[in-house]
Amino acid sequence: SPSMMYAKGSKRDALMGGLLVPGFDERTCASRYSSAMYRKNTARSPCGHLVKRLREQEALQRRCGPGTAAYRRAAERLGSRRNGTAGAGDEGCKYLVLVPYRGLGNRMLAMASAFLYALLTGRALLVDRGESLADLFCEPFHGTSWLLPPEFPIKNLQDLTGEAPESYRNLVQSDRPGTSVSDLPYVFVDLDHGCTYHDKLFYCDDERHFLHRAPWLLMRTDGYFPPALFLNPAYQDELDRLFPRKDSVFYLLAHYLLHPTNKVWGLITRFYDSYLKDSDERLGIQVRVFDGDTPFKHILDQITACTSQERLLPEVVEQEPSSFPAPAAAAAAGARSKAVLMTGLNSWYYENIRSRYWQSPTATGVVVRVHQPSHEEHQLSGSTTHDMKAMAEMYLLSMTDAIVTSGWSTFGYVGHGLGGLSPWVMFKPENLTTPDPPCRRAVSMEPCLHGPPFYDCRVKRGADTGKMVPHVRHCEDMSWGLKLV
Ligand code: GDP
Repeated sequence: SPSMMYAKGSKRDALMGGLLVPGFDERTCASRYSSAMYRKNTARSPCGHLVKRLREQEALQRRCGPGTAAYRRAAERLGSRRNGTAGAGDEGCKYLVLVPYRGLGNRMLAMASAFLYALLTGRALLVDRGESLADLFCEPFHGTSWLLPPEFPIKNLQDLTGEAPESYRNLVQSDRPGTSVSDLPYVFVDLDHGCTYHDKLFYCDDERHFLHRAPWLLMRTDGYFPPALFLNPAYQDELDRLFPRKDSVFYLLAHYLLHPTNKVWGLITRFYDSYLKDSDERLGIQVRVFDGDTPFKHILDQITACTSQERLLPEVVEQEPSSFPAPAAAAAAGARSKAVLMTGLNSWYYENIRSRYWQSPTATGVVVRVHQPSHEEHQLSGSTTHDMKAMAEMYLLSMTDAIVTSGWSTFGYVGHGLGGLSPWVMFKPENLTTPDPPCRRAVSMEPCLHGPPFYDCRVKRGADTGKMVPHVRHCEDMSWGLKLV
């Protein structure tokens, strides 16, 4: 039972060093207090300032969230399209509405990013639930909800783009003077990975001077934008205080915010207990193929080359051993075991690796067990059971001891980011050829921002944003991307 698991570790471990608050009903969301027990070591703890700011943010969410008088009035003003000159209203409530979209990995990165922005700017976060969100995640805030109420006055949020008249792009475009924040019922910020130069000026925005006049900020993003916030002079001091170590921003945000519902937690724990728990070591291999859903030999070769060169999987030998020890003797001799968790839409890679260790003995005598929870064949994001499996698999990857991921994949970023693991990243193949080298160890556990700004906020001109501060660098898997280290 959850309470038994809770009792196993110390209370401080279960609450991850003050990241989480006690007081939620454990039965409605078992993962919240027991997921820490499934990890060998807590990679990072939150600092005191982050803990304090989280508690303040929770109070803000309760004061301004759905069901409060403040929310009702703010939504009414928005619905009647009265402009925002009233500012944040009497209660001082301002909102960030996030429209997450694309695959589940994308959406999880978006939620963590938007939460950090809400925290930095004193806004309550509300998330557009789409088809499946409420079935995947527990409420992160006690005594309130982060789900955008269905009667929210702006409809078809999924259709908003930077083209909208209310967009930030439109506000800052110098060839369209005259529109001011105060004239608009809301401001829409487009942070799609393919957004424009003007959209990305948002990353240089100092909310205190400009956007604070917008009580409603609507945002869509499909990625992880904190690296860009760390480049904005307006937030640097506060971010330094919140995160003295810059390499675990996602780890802390995700463990604070993204708790699997009991249904998903069941998928996670049953698989873990059946296939991963009893091995001496656990290796995760995340296979994400962007060239199509059919099997590719060059990708299997890449997995084998990477795991062999980096000594993540044992070599196999042709020769059967001259004597086979009796099972009891083998166990007594302490044959080590390694569980390999493979994830992917296709089962062909898994079948091949598994056969390899069935057909031949390992050179070291290590017993290798290869497992893959599902093979969905095609991406069906938005369908609840499909998304539940995707979430369970990202979590299971995070419970391994070492992880190999596919470059460019946000699914992989979530797996290693939640796990507190710096992955071995397999480079994205070009021209259907195995890259050489096949993979490389990443410098940090942080996700990569795919659509970064190329602009220096201080001097107001183009710049190599991977060279401006020591803790924001280009990613291993995408030369123009940015990640925290
Ligand atoms: P990305 O496209 O690799 O950046 O990751 P996303 O998670 O954003 O989108 C890919 C989607 O395809 C996932 O959310 C799943 O719906 C599906 N998918 C891709 N790989 C896997 C996998 O290994 N397991 C499962 N269950 N689904 C996957």
